[in-house]
Amino acid sequence: MPAGNPEKMETAYLFGADAVYCGVPRYSLRARENDFRMESLKSAVEIAHSNNKKIYFTVNAIPRNSKVTTFPKYLSEMAALKPDAFIMADPGLIYLTRELHPEIDVHISVQANTMNFAAVKFWQKLGATRVILSREVSISEVAEIKNEVPDMELEVFVHGAICIAHSGRCFMSNYFTNRDANQGSCNNACRDKYKVFVTNPRQNDEMMELQEDEDGTYLMNSKDLRAIEFLEDIAKAGVDSVKVEGRTKSEYYVALVSKAYRKALDDIRDGNPFDRNLLVELDKIASRKYFSGFLTKGMEERVPEEERDFQNYVDGSSSIQTQMFMGKVKEINEDADLVTVDIKNRVKIGDKIEVFLPGEINTKHFLISEIIYKQENKEVISGGISDVQLKVPFNIPKNSFFSIVT
Ligand code: SF4
Repeated sequence: MPAGNPEKMETAYLFGADAVYCGVPRYSLRARENDFRMESLKSAVEIAHSNNKKIYFTVNAIPRNSKVTTFPKYLSEMAALKPDAFIMADPGLIYLTRELHPEIDVHISVQANTMNFAAVKFWQKLGATRVILSREVSISEVAEIKNEVPDMELEVFVHGAICIAHSGRCFMSNYFTNRDANQGSCNNACRDKYKVFVTNPRQNDEMMELQEDEDGTYLMNSKDLRAIEFLEDIAKAGVDSVKVEGRTKSEYYVALVSKAYRKALDDIRDGNPFDRNLLVELDKIASRKYFSGFLTKGMEERVPEEERDFQNYVDGSSSIQTQMFMGKVKEINEDADLVTVDIKNRVKIGDKIEVFLPGEINTKHFLISEIIYKQENKEVISGGISDVQLKVPFNIPKNSFFSIVT
């Protein structure tokens, strides 16, 4: 699971993740909205290992010379923290890591665009222990790769936003705003609404605007990946680890996605059929509509009709969701009937709340009957207000998540 900050890391573990990935802004592909610094990485590793979980450092930027010069210093500081592996893409940084800290396991990042078994063998020869395959690889191609390189660990992305370009090979953000996607500063230019003009020399090069119809003009906006339904096929293809995108996403996203994929994986282990209710669960978080990406290429007959189209031409924002995140339980009073929450979205008396409890499959529901803010009773409270107390009719543990059922 992605960990954009220490809280998201703990939420991922509490809701079922086996491992998280995180990194310092300078070398990881999250230069913005990334709270991790060397000090917090140190405590993150301690928390991970004391809970028998894994933690990987993302060191997957494609740096220019100036960042290579400073890398050995960062490298020794990060290596001293003893993460379970580095996730890397740049051959130069991989070379330096193998030379200076050969004890560190290197996982090849999706940014390296590994598409075939020969490329996997190449990385294996350089000492990598896992390859995170390109998002453009299908499940049948994964099986062929595993067959050719059985002793290499393989990982695939199964959930989250994806690029319209091959990961790492897009310069739209650089071109429009001088923000380099390969340094972790993508401005999501592909999500914008574009006006498209065409000209024809035989008509005096007159610019003619392509008119938008009800299908919209978000020409390069990909839907989000959701392959939970195909996890068994992915496991049978020989994948060792499945991964979720989203270090900038909310803790609510981290909690619900961890919980859903944990349940799906446990069901596979226990021989249970896929629980289709998990698709409904994942609709409770914001998306740009879902599809199963390139993974299901060649098995289209099993992909629902509405998921065969890769793009969402109508809306580039991540806004389609059936429920709204309301807050996370920070504290509980002595009688366990009042919980303290930082309110993320407006809530009022009478709203129906779904409660997601750490480590529990089933959710609970209650109606908001009392809202207390600064010792005063309120009928309604806006998003963005901290330390609001809500009356609850049953015991709710700390770190539970509330969403408003609409
Ligand atoms: S602009 Fe879009 S396609 Fe390009 S790197 Fe950013 S998210 Fe990916």
